[in-house]
Amino acid sequence: MNPIVIIGSGLAGYGLAREFRKRDGDTPITLITADGGQVYAKPNLSNALSQGRMPEQLAAESAGQAASRLKATILTQTRVTAIDPAGKRLVTDHGEVAYGRLVLALGADPIPHGLSGDAVDKIFAVNDLDDYSRFRSALEGKKRVAILGGGLIGCEFANDLAASGHQVEVVHLGAWPLERLVPEPVGRNLASGLAEQGVTWHFGHSAQSVETAGEGVALILDDGSRIEADLVLSAIGLRSRTGLAKAAGLAVNRGIVVDRQLRTSDPDIFAMGDCAEVEGLVLPFVQPLLAQARTLAAVLAGEQPSIAYPAMPVVVKTPASPLVVAPPPMGVDGEWQVERTERGLIARFVDGPDSLLGFALGGGETGQRMQFAQQLPATLA
Ligand SMILES: Cc1cc2nc3c(=O)[nH]c(=O)nc-3n(C[C@H](O)[C@H](O)[C@H](O)COP(=O)(O)OP(=O)(O)OC[C@H]3O[C@@H](n4cnc5c(N)ncnc54)[C@H](O)[C@@H]3O)c2cc1C
Repeated sequence: MNPIVIIGSGLAGYGLAREFRKRDGDTPITLITADGGQVYAKPNLSNALSQGRMPEQLAAESAGQAASRLKATILTQTRVTAIDPAGKRLVTDHGEVAYGRLVLALGADPIPHGLSGDAVDKIFAVNDLDDYSRFRSALEGKKRVAILGGGLIGCEFANDLAASGHQVEVVHLGAWPLERLVPEPVGRNLASGLAEQGVTWHFGHSAQSVETAGEGVALILDDGSRIEADLVLSAIGLRSRTGLAKAAGLAVNRGIVVDRQLRTSDPDIFAMGDCAEVEGLVLPFVQPLLAQARTLAAVLAGEQPSIAYPAMPVVVKTPASPLVVAPPPMGVDGEWQVERTERGLIARFVDGPDSLLGFALGGGETGQRMQFAQQLPATLA
């Protein structure tokens, strides 16, 4: 029997293997990964420093341990370079692999920073354990970090680095952090919480180039101003890895397009996690991929489920200014109403009385996230 082949050993790939094994102990599973195949929780990458955890402490299991727990063959350091849907085989840099059914759990790539200058090798992006190990090695003995981007990941790293004694400067094109997810007062509250932790903000600017300056670098902004740092962390966003699927003739849009059974335009190929687009939604977070893993495990076991998502608030890991966000769906009409309370901030996105479509809770109000989430419509009913 040709195996179920999963490409990717992130939370999506391993999550699916775990859910599938709950239903089927026998069908062979092969998992192929370009990295070392360690089992780890990626969200820990942006708070490990202040928790005193080294990169090697973040792996819960090696690929070998995961292989025996899951009764799976795991091919590590193996990159898939092409998919042949007609022949049901994969081309890898270590030879060919046949599949019966194929799951793409390929994740997302950091968006290229596009900066020029002689010190671009001092710009890091952290999207997996290997990236994080490189970043931590480069950070050894260094004090000053410039961060590009004040989105979720940029803010979390800013908090983590500042809380562990680094001088952090964040360059962000928007007028406040997370401007696409939260209204201005909530973003400003987050910015001031992080500023109290020592973070310096440069709103309304982008970086153009990075040049060597003494032992460190100088980041040159669009107004010609300079930020001196030891290294630069780029956190300007991620985009789904769609290249392999596209080259194989599968339908892709912002992500690899799948139906509500996670099936691509090829009936034997599925996609999930950060690389997948379900009903127009690319949701690069843990909760959606766990729902996908349960649904796809059932599909692969012969059932006919249909994926649904409840409202899924995201906890932003910025203890200097606690925040939970559940942004409204893209493009809906409505307005933010912001209330300051004794404990923090409550922002409701409404399109009429009693019609909550999104929220953001700051400070001590984050404890109410479950009550607020219950009032939201499902993300995918
Ligand atoms: C710093 C950080 C903090 C985060 N914090 C949170 C949080 O607090 N809460 C939350 O919900 N989400 C958070 N996220 C997002 C969340 O971690 C991701 O949505 C999730 O981990 C994605 O898992 P994945 O398996 O889809 O992708 P990945 O973990 O990126 O896995 C992709 C896998 O595919 C493999 N691969 C790719 N291409 C090939 C190829 N051609 N051949 C072979 N293998 C290949 C890779 O080697 C890798 O194993 C965070 C993300 C980051 C970066």
